[in-house]
Amino acid sequence: MSAPALHLQGVSKHYGPVRAVDRVSLEVRPGELYALLGLNGAGKTTLMRVVLGMVRPSAGTVTVLGRGRGDRSALAAVGYLVESAAAYPELTVRENLELARRLRRLRSPGAVQDAVELFGLTEHADRRARVLSQGNLQRLALARAMLHRPSLLVLDEPVNGLDPAGVVEVRALLGRLAREHGTAVLLSSHLLGEVARVATRVGVLHRGALIDEFGTAALPDRVHRRLELSTRDDARAVRVLAAAGLPARRAAGTVVLEGARATDRPEDVAAALVHGGVPPTALAVVREDLEAHFLRLVGAEHPGERSGDR
Ligand code: ATP
Repeated sequence: MSAPALHLQGVSKHYGPVRAVDRVSLEVRPGELYALLGLNGAGKTTLMRVVLGMVRPSAGTVTVLGRGRGDRSALAAVGYLVESAAAYPELTVRENLELARRLRRLRSPGAVQDAVELFGLTEHADRRARVLSQGNLQRLALARAMLHRPSLLVLDEPVNGLDPAGVVEVRALLGRLAREHGTAVLLSSHLLGEVARVATRVGVLHRGALIDEFGTAALPDRVHRRLELSTRDDARAVRVLAAAGLPARRAAGTVVLEGARATDRPEDVAAALVHGGVPPTALAVVREDLEAHFLRLVGAEHPGERSGDR
């Protein structure tokens, strides 16, 4: 297996009593899209700033592209977009990218034009940054972060401010960079629904600590499922189901059953009800909403569930 592009071991960052990052260990391999998922204040930005050498960790080791913190040479092969998508307002899109190219000491003058095209900025290339929409500013910032085709990309909330078409575009672009160029991507988000579409792996950051880590391919198996049904007499239905060894409860005008026996074989539940003289008038397997799943992971309040997502 290839060496990790990023390796964190026991990384902490404390601001006085605040544990912004608390003993985080993780690895991002080439071609992997790793999403740090967390609520506001979970420590995502701080962790990214530690990775980029902008903030000194209180403890732990950070290895970027095989090199330790003291060796800043690895940072030349890192692209990043952390916090605001700042650009020089009086320079055009092309001039902003040209400046970035020179600062990066990139020889290929074609790099700017490639980035303009790749990020759909052709019609804005000669407009000043100050007149760009938020979405196009974000595109410019991403283009700048990727200008030198970095081996590791660190992106804080990369789809912030983009319209739905822009979100889809950036998702596809990141996927391509990872798959075709083997770029390792560390990105952050507060939306599980979003990262489920772009990331290959998710680390859940909560109060500075990495409390869970999973591959997005495993998500459908992790979300809770339940069977919801209605009858003409729900109290009786619950008694009938209990007698059939199917524990059920009443909730918000429906009868709810949890567990694989009910969700994998809803027909058995229907048959038990028909047999007991309370046939179902409606019956559906409901999947937990991804954001509800995320909130459950971090122990926050349940905002309610709906079916359909994934
Ligand atoms: P958001 O999604 O809101 O950007 P985040 O997950 O990126 O949140 P951080 O900005 O990393 O979270 O903040 C983590 C915690 O560390 C917060 O409690 C924050 O107030 C605190 N913190 C961050 N930077 C500093 C600082 N320079 N001084 C003191 N506390 C800080």
